[in-house]
Amino acid sequence: MELDILRQEPAPTEVGSYFVANYPPFSAWSRDHVAAARAALASAPESPPAWAAAGDVPKPAVPPLGLYLHIPFCRKRCKFCYFRVYTDKNAADVDSYMDALAREIALYSAQPRFAGRQFEFVYFGGGTPSFLSSEQLKRLVGRINEHWRWDAAREVTFECEPGTLQKSKLETIRSIGVTRLSLGVEHFDDELLESNGRAHKSKEIYRAWDWVREVGFPQVNIDLIAGMVGESDEKWRFAVDEALKLQPDSLTIYQMELPHNAVFSKEQQASGQRLVATWAEKRAWVDYAFRQFEAAGYVVSSGYTLLKPSPDARFVYRDSLWHGADMVGTGVASFSHVAGVHYQNLDKWEDYIPTVQRGELPIARALPISRHQALIRELILQLKLGSVATQYFDQKFAARVAEDFAEPLRSLQSEGWLDRVNGEIRLTRGGLLKVDELLARFFEPQFRGVRYT
Ligand code: SF4
Repeated sequence: MELDILRQEPAPTEVGSYFVANYPPFSAWSRDHVAAARAALASAPESPPAWAAAGDVPKPAVPPLGLYLHIPFCRKRCKFCYFRVYTDKNAADVDSYMDALAREIALYSAQPRFAGRQFEFVYFGGGTPSFLSSEQLKRLVGRINEHWRWDAAREVTFECEPGTLQKSKLETIRSIGVTRLSLGVEHFDDELLESNGRAHKSKEIYRAWDWVREVGFPQVNIDLIAGMVGESDEKWRFAVDEALKLQPDSLTIYQMELPHNAVFSKEQQASGQRLVATWAEKRAWVDYAFRQFEAAGYVVSSGYTLLKPSPDARFVYRDSLWHGADMVGTGVASFSHVAGVHYQNLDKWEDYIPTVQRGELPIARALPISRHQALIRELILQLKLGSVATQYFDQKFAARVAEDFAEPLRSLQSEGWLDRVNGEIRLTRGGLLKVDELLARFFEPQFRGVRYT
């Protein structure tokens, strides 16, 4: 029934950003606000973010703290990728980057904002963190731990590309405290993996999977992408079946988009031909996967994820960030959020490394956010979970969500994308499958229709 609503919208996949990762949009961040980021880092751990300083909101507790480490190396560039990654660096280059990363983390460990605080979560992302050898990884972690440890972290996530793994490397990854391994499978069809520029093939997935289970991680996640170029109903059903056979602890499914600068985006713009399925087709594929996994006992935990219920089933990184945690993003082009200020690192290797080597934090652009913007940010991110209780926002931000957002809530409800029950906003399945498309309705007018990144 709900999917019938989606089928009425065969919108093509155009080039441009779709996924909403933050608010206000990145295009609003600027060099002019870098001083605000530095001031946030110099503030005491218990001092409230600027948006809460007015005195008419309850003083927030010191938020959880996370660390993100960007490992920007990949064996090959996927044709849909828009991340800051390098495929041409040699071992000496990798070592100098690791040195810069360790130095940057050492600089952060001395910032007043983090005095006496422990990491609640750590995330090795990329790029491909598993591109690093066991020796490089041990050396990096050894250097970081001279300044900062993550023994108390509730979750340490590590992203892997299947073709970079050996059993001994997985043992090293486990030994540095990783609790959540995320395997970038994306698909099981070799032709499709090849034509989309992935570095691995299906046999490397199955080989890695046996080692992952032998080594034993508390949680293992598999990533899939619905709608890679060349996708079909038959291939997608095969991918979902294969993923189900592996019985991962959680599954993440992205809908293929065509961000600016990806190889496929340039090809589509040059040829004028549509390369990727329509949004309606991609959402129907995600819905199919949701139903198959639900039938096997999994639960849908956001617009992109399913998990197998268990005491370890959690995603601390996501849930902390979406509830306003502080997170230090380290590495080239990384994003941070500290004390109500967003900021991003220098996004070029040639700028990032020398800046850190000089002993400076490599901050390139920033944006301090207002209380209303902090509210919108948490509201739209938490809506991706499928339901939110308005009371949380009303208390934390001294807001009245039902009135402040009456118009978007009314229009989304009348179009069938959400229901409202006893102070709870619940997306319908149709709404959840297209949640990113709906979120701009909550944006302030000046950020609607602007370029997102
Ligand atoms: S593995 Fe991930 S980060 Fe690397 S090129 Fe592919 S999509 Fe980009």
